[in-house]
Amino acid sequence: AWPVLAVVGRPNVGKSTLVNRILGRREAVVEDMPGVTRDRVSYPAEWAGRRFTLVDTGGWEVDVAGIEARVAQQAEVAIALADAVLFVVDATVGATDTDEQVVRLLRRAGKPVVLCANKVDGPAGEADAAALWALGLGEPFPVSALHGRGTGDLLEAAVDAL
Ligand code: GDP
Ligand code: MG
Repeated sequence: AWPVLAVVGRPNVGKSTLVNRILGRREAVVEDMPGVTRDRVSYPAEWAGRRFTLVDTGGWEVDVAGIEARVAQQAEVAIALADAVLFVVDATVGATDTDEQVVRLLRRAGKPVVLCANKVDGPAGEADAAALWALGLGEPFPVSALHGRGTGDLLEAAVDAL
């Protein structure tokens, strides 16, 4: 079996967009709005000659308990099954309480984590990315999953972590 790289993060941060970017095709469903219910989806992937299973934590069910508990639950399962985790944060929003919640799960799980500071579409966003050092997960990789900016460095670090 190939090593497993799980993509986790809050709804709408660009996880599926990043998955499509890595796959080189539009396979994962990208939504403009959070809260679409989908299962975790696995894809065979390859980067720089390294094969791995890429897991998109597809969607989150909004219920009366709120979206945040569901995010944590989904993330926990994906993290448990992964060899390494690609944690995606929306750098334009910055770290939210939900992001901090996932960080705690990641610490507990003890899996290698690569931090993707997504939606850095241009140089002006670099400062937003740097602010994510505060999460304590090491270097934030500034990325635009939408345009492909920075994905090479991110994926190099991710496959190194597997
Ligand atoms: P997910 O819920 O985390 O899987 O997020 P999606 O991949 O479905 O993306 C949510 C929204 O963010 C969509 O409208 C995407 O087009 C947008 N998005 C994703 N990545 C980027 C990015 O790098 N830059 C910008 N500007 N928008 C992005
Ligand atoms: Mg998605």
